[in-house]
Amino acid sequence: MAAQSVLIVEDEENLRVALQFNLEQEGYDVHSAPDGLTGLEIARREHPDLLILDVMLPGMNGYDICREIRKDSDVPILMLTAKSEEIDKVVGLELGADDYVTKPFSVRELIARVHALLRRRRGETQGTMIGEPLRAGDLSVDLAGHIVRKGGEIVELTPREFELLALLVANPGRAYSRGQILDAVWGPNHFGDERTVDVHVRWLRLKIEDEPSEPRRIVTVRGLGYRFEG
Ligand code: CA
Repeated sequence: MAAQSVLIVEDEENLRVALQFNLEQEGYDVHSAPDGLTGLEIARREHPDLLILDVMLPGMNGYDICREIRKDSDVPILMLTAKSEEIDKVVGLELGADDYVTKPFSVRELIARVHALLRRRRGETQGTMIGEPLRAGDLSVDLAGHIVRKGGEIVELTPREFELLALLVANPGRAYSRGQILDAVWGPNHFGDERTVDVHVRWLRLKIEDEPSEPRRIVTVRGLGYRFEG
């Protein structure tokens, strides 16, 4: 999967820069705009995969941008509202925003929402059923919420590890070649080596297997790749 792009429209510079930095760290291509008109222009030019939209903006406010975008696009929109604007989230959702976060928020929380919205979107386009976490023994994988638990405890995964696990878990018993995994998780334009897959599988096994040296969840398919045992 190629890098997904996010557009941040936020006039508070510190917040905008912090969000951009953190989303880039997560592997997204990030565009940003300090005001509404610039934001709308970038949205129309770049067709981002997700929009983070502040409500109170100079020039054109978040609602107006949301309304304009929704005329010809169903891109996921996450609105940022201030606590004093509690009523605003209702308006935002009516205008077609998909989710909202109330300021002040933690960057970690915002990124979790971004992952969830993009994953939900991808699930829709692939026709996958998203909702109940997928379970295998004491492992549960919540695709929409991007949360993995083992024995009830949250397992911290990097975005790549999560994508890799999600791919395998969504089709238990299906054998994937290393090449297929590279294409699906790193994107067809990735100049990677198939050993990248092995390295990530090894890390993932350390986190989700009872005995990483004798894996029973992510098993090796000799001469091909890997398969998830549900
Ligand atoms: Ca603002």
